[in-house]
Amino acid sequence: MDNENKEAKKTNIIKLNPDEIYGNDNSLADEFVPDEESNGTKRKRKRKKKAPENTVYIDPKVRIKRMRAARRKNGLCTYCGKPVDRDGALCAACLAKNAEQTKARTEMYLSAGVCPICGKNDIFPHEKSCKECKAKFSMRLDKRMDQFKVYQRERYRKFESMGLCSRCGKRPPEEGKKWCRQCLDRHNKKARNRREDVRARWATDLCCMRCGKPERVEGKKLCPDCYRAALAAAKKCAENRNPDFKKAWAESNMRMRAHYRKFPRN
Ligand SMILES: [Zn+2]
Ligand SMILES: [Zn+2]
Ligand SMILES: [Zn+2]
Ligand SMILES: [Zn+2]
Repeated sequence: MDNENKEAKKTNIIKLNPDEIYGNDNSLADEFVPDEESNGTKRKRKRKKKAPENTVYIDPKVRIKRMRAARRKNGLCTYCGKPVDRDGALCAACLAKNAEQTKARTEMYLSAGVCPICGKNDIFPHEKSCKECKAKFSMRLDKRMDQFKVYQRERYRKFESMGLCSRCGKRPPEEGKKWCRQCLDRHNKKARNRREDVRARWATDLCCMRCGKPERVEGKKLCPDCYRAALAAAKKCAENRNPDFKKAWAESNMRMRAHYRKFPRN
């Protein structure tokens, strides 16, 4: 107890810090002013069963947000409030539970043909979210990408000026390239896998193999638009073809055979 409170005790007045009782809401301090009529011998205190009039209403969403922020700051799981046992906002148990719930919900929406993000709009079987959600997502992504690009450009320049692979900065780059062999291989493999994945999905969902639209001309692997475009291209090709193309082809084949006789493969 500090000196001020000791002084107060002599006259039987206890000064209470309103912050201790009602947070930072100073409008309630008046409740704790000593009664003047009783010469300061009694502390007037109204007992109220209801919440005080000036109680600040906090939106539950905001309250939860604040609670989670506080938990996070103190190293507690933002879901269950127990100390976290891993690097992140959730404990391992809550993380697993959350992932399971999210997966189940997403599968439910997808099987019903509804966007799993907003839960409102219908989607095609080959899609994973609706147009609105995609637009929202890409908008957010664009913003982030702009920031990221600046950072990435500086990083690239730094490594390049040091004479290193501008992607990883660990090894010297391949001759005539800006990236090292490992980075090039990794990048190519990823791109190839992604292309194959997409085409496999189009094949199983019977989508157009050229644009991915979920339509196909009967007996073909293209949508009407792409099929028409392909026909037009074939026609144009036939029109512009050199009348001696068969001869040219035969000559080229002969040249190739002669080459491989001279330099056999393997
Ligand atoms: Zn937890
Ligand atoms: Zn949506
Ligand atoms: Zn590299
Ligand atoms: Zn198409």
